[in-house]
Amino acid sequence: MRMPAPDADIISKRSVIVGRLQQIVPPGTFGENVISDPAGLRAYECDGLSAYRQLPLVVVLPETTEQISEILKYCNKEGIKVVARGAGTSLSGGALPLADAVLLGLGKFNQILDIDYINRAVVTQPGVTNSSISEAVSGADFYYAPDPSSQIVCSIGGNVAENSGGVHCLKYGLTTNNLLGLEMVLMNGDIIKLGGKYLDSEGYDLLGVVTGSEGLLGIITEVTLRILRKPETARAMLVGFDNVALAGDCVAEIISAGIIPGGMEMMDKFATQATEEFVHAGYPSNVEALLIVELDGPSVEVTDLILRVQNIANNIGSNYIRVSESEAEREVFWAGRKAAFPAIGRITPDYYCVDGTIPRARLPDVLIQINRMSQKYRLRVANVFHAGDGNLHPLIMYDANKLGELERAEKFGIEILTLCVEVGGVLTGEHGVGVEKRDLMEVVFTEEDLKQQQRLKCAFDPNGLLNPGKVFPTLHRCAELGRMHVHHGQTKFPDIPRF
Ligand SMILES: Cc1cc2nc3c(=O)[nH]c(=O)nc-3n(C[C@H](O)[C@H](O)[C@H](O)COP(=O)(O)OP(=O)(O)OC[C@H]3O[C@@H](n4cnc5c(N)ncnc54)[C@H](O)[C@@H]3O)c2cc1C
Repeated sequence: MRMPAPDADIISKRSVIVGRLQQIVPPGTFGENVISDPAGLRAYECDGLSAYRQLPLVVVLPETTEQISEILKYCNKEGIKVVARGAGTSLSGGALPLADAVLLGLGKFNQILDIDYINRAVVTQPGVTNSSISEAVSGADFYYAPDPSSQIVCSIGGNVAENSGGVHCLKYGLTTNNLLGLEMVLMNGDIIKLGGKYLDSEGYDLLGVVTGSEGLLGIITEVTLRILRKPETARAMLVGFDNVALAGDCVAEIISAGIIPGGMEMMDKFATQATEEFVHAGYPSNVEALLIVELDGPSVEVTDLILRVQNIANNIGSNYIRVSESEAEREVFWAGRKAAFPAIGRITPDYYCVDGTIPRARLPDVLIQINRMSQKYRLRVANVFHAGDGNLHPLIMYDANKLGELERAEKFGIEILTLCVEVGGVLTGEHGVGVEKRDLMEVVFTEEDLKQQQRLKCAFDPNGLLNPGKVFPTLHRCAELGRMHVHHGQTKFPDIPRF
C-alpha cells in the first residue's frame, strides 16, 4: 500500500506541534488530551484494516467544537495534515494514521444532546456509538435503523463519514437516508451547519456530499438523525439451500414478488458453521447457503409475508425453513449473523474483509467465481453478505506471518472487486474506499471523473490537509487541477509498513 511521502519538516517540528496542541486542549478530568509517547501512540496505529500500520505524529483528543476549530486553524496555517478517528473500526483504512499527521480522536464527543420524539429526531455528538442511539430511544418504542454489525463499538460520526449500512438498510436505507443534519468544522476552522430537523432544505445538497466523504472534507462535530417507530412485529426466518445459486434465486424471487424484507442476509456453509460454533444461534449444519430473512410490520401482514416467503423458498427447493417464535429467538438468529466476522477471526490468524456490490441477479455466478479464486490463491474464503442489497463481504483468511500470504490475500481481494465492477457493480457497498480500494478507483472512474471529485474536495480543503492519501489514487494540488495529466499505473506514493 502506498501513501504520500511524509513531510520531514513537519516531523522535525513535532515537539513544537505537541506543545501548541497541549495549549489548545489542556488535560481534562480523565487526564492528558494530547498523546505523544510511543506506547500511547501504539494504541492508534491502525484501524479495522489491521494489515496496515503507522504510528501517528501525535494524537489529540479534543472535548469541544471550539477546540477542534482551533486545532484545524493551527494545522491549516502550519500545513499540518489531520486524520479524524471515531472508534477506529473502518475496514478500508480510512482512519489509518500518517507519520506526519495529527490524529484527531472524537472519542470524547460521547453525549446524546437531544431526543425529540415529536420531530422523530436525535441530536448527538459524533463519538456516540451506533447502538447507543437505539438504546436511548428504545423505551419509547423508537430505534435508529442503520445497524452495522460493529454497532456496539463504531461511532455515529464514523457511520456518517463512511455512509455505513447494516442488515436493516435494504428496507430502511443507509446512513445517508437516515441523516437529517450535521455540524462540522472546516480545515480553516470555520464551523458550519448542514440540514436540521426537517426533511429538505434549499441550496446544494451538501449533507449528501459530506455523507461518505471519509474524513476528507471536514470534522463532523454534531449529527442529527431520523429515528423510527419500532415495527409492531418482526420475525426472522432461516432458509437453507443445497447450493448458493438456489439461495441467490430465492433472494431475486422474494424481491421481484414485491416483498421488501426488513433484512435479507446470506452466509455460505463455511461462515454458517464457524458462526454456529461461536454463537450457537441454532443454524443448520447441513446447508450450503443460509438466508436470514426478516419480515416486519403489522402482525397480520407479517404472518402473510412469512407464508409467501415460505412458498417461494419451497418452490425453489429449500431444504430447511425455521421461523422465529419469539423475540428472543429472532435476536439469537441475528446475533449469529452479527458475530460472523469475529467467528471467522477465531479460526484464522488474519482475515481480509472485501466489500463490493453487484446486481443481485449476478450473485450465484459471482460466488462460484470467488470459490474458484479461492483455489487459485490457495486461501480459504467465507462469504457473509447483505444479499438483498447485493453487497458482498468475502472474508479472505490468511496468516500474515506466512511469507507471501498477505500479498496473495490482497491480489485475491483485487480480483474480487474488479469482478464486481465487471458484472455491473461497484467497489464498495458500505466500508468506503480508504486506502484499501484507493488504487482501484481508476477501474471505475475516468481521469476527468476523479479530477471533478477532487475539485469538490478542494472547495472544502484547498490545502489538501484532511486525510490525504485516502480515496484518491493520485494527489493533485488544488491549484494544478485541470492542468495535470494522470499517468495510470505510475508509482504515486511511497510504501507504508505492512504487518
Ligand atoms: C467486525 C466489523 C463489522 C463491521 N460491519 C459493518 C457493517 O455491517 N456495515 C458497515 O457499513 N460497516 C461495517 N464495519 C465497518 C465500520 O465499523 C464502519 O465503517 C464504521 O462506520 C466506522 O466507524 P468508526 O467510528 O469506527 O470510524 P473510524 O474507523 O474511526 O473512521 C472511519 C472513517 O471516518 C472518518 N471519521 C471518523 N469520525 C469522523 C468525524 N467525526 N468527522 C469526520 N470524519 C470522521 C475517518 O477519518 C475515517 O476515514 C464493520 C467493521 C468491523 C470491524
